[in-house]
Amino acid sequence: MSSTNHEDLGLDVYDPRFQDAEAAAIYLESIRWPDGPVCPHCGESERKAYKLNVKGTKRRLWKCAACRKQFTVMVGTIFEDSHIPLNKWLLAFYFLCSSKKGMSAHQLHRMLGVTYKSAWFMAHRIRYAMEQPPFASLLTGTVEVDETYVGGKVRRTNKVQHRPLDPRQPDKRKQTGRGSDKVPVVALIERGGEVRSMRMANVTGDNLGGAIRRHVSREAHLRTDSFPSYTLVGREYASHETVNHAVEYVRGDAHTNTAENFFSILKRGINGIYHHVSEAHLPRYLAEFDFRYNTRSANGFTDADRTRLALSMVGGKRLTYNS
Ligand SMILES: [Zn+2]
Repeated sequence: MSSTNHEDLGLDVYDPRFQDAEAAAIYLESIRWPDGPVCPHCGESERKAYKLNVKGTKRRLWKCAACRKQFTVMVGTIFEDSHIPLNKWLLAFYFLCSSKKGMSAHQLHRMLGVTYKSAWFMAHRIRYAMEQPPFASLLTGTVEVDETYVGGKVRRTNKVQHRPLDPRQPDKRKQTGRGSDKVPVVALIERGGEVRSMRMANVTGDNLGGAIRRHVSREAHLRTDSFPSYTLVGREYASHETVNHAVEYVRGDAHTNTAENFFSILKRGINGIYHHVSEAHLPRYLAEFDFRYNTRSANGFTDADRTRLALSMVGGKRLTYNS
C-alpha cells in the first residue's frame, strides 16, 4: 500500500487509493501533511500527533499531543462530515481534473456508484476547492479581455446565430447575447498565463473597468474587442488595442484569440456536459474551468499534477450549505 503512496494517480481504477478508504487517507495525508500530521484544532505540528488504533476499523484517527483532541485528515476540509468514502472522492477529483470539459453529475453517479444527489454535491464541493484564492497575483504581460454568453434556454431563433457571419455586418451573435436571457461571462486572460473568468450581470464600462483594475496589473497591455465600454479603462494601461470582430480577426497581436479559445472549451463544457447550469451556480463552474485552464498541460501540468494540486486545496474552507 505504501508503495503507491507517493506515486502519481493515474487513470487506473484498480489503484488501491481509488478502491480503499485507508489507502486514500494515507495518500491525502501525504499531500496535506508532507512533514507529518498537523492538528486542525490547534495547528500544532512540532509535537507529534500519534495514531490511535480503533478496534474493528481501519480508520486513520490521530490524537494531538498538544491539545489532546482527535482528528483525521478529513477534518477541516470539504470532506468533513461526508458519508462518501474518501477513495470515491479521490476518483471524483481525478475525473474532474482529467476531463477537459468536466464531467456531469450523471456520469459521476454511474462511475462512482453513488446516488445522483451525492454525485452532484461532490462535484460542487470539488469546484469549491478549485476556486482561486482571493489573493491571487495580478495578470500582466499581454492580457486579453472578452465577453461571451452562456446557458439560457435554447430558442428557435438560435438557428439564426449559426449562420456564417457576414464580415461586413456587425456580429449578430454578440448582439443577441447582449440583452438576451443568456448569462454574460467575462474572461481576463494573460497570454501564456492564467485566466480569471466571472459572471457579470451587466456588461457595462463600470463593471468591466472594475474587473480589469482588480485583476490586471497597470503595466499590462490590454487587448479587447471594440466594445466601447473598454475605452475608458483602456487608457489606464500600458497600451490598449482593440479588434473589431465584424471586419477583421487578427491585426498583428491585436486579437482576443486566447480568450476565444478558452470560451470555446467553456461553452463545449457548459452546453455539452452541464446542460442546466443555473446562473447562481455558474461561478462554481467557472472556477472549475479556470482551474483546469490555469493548470493546463501547456503550462507543464499532467492530469496527476492537477489532481494533486486540487487535493491540496481541500482544507481551510468550510461550506455553508447543507448536503
Ligand atoms: Zn491540537
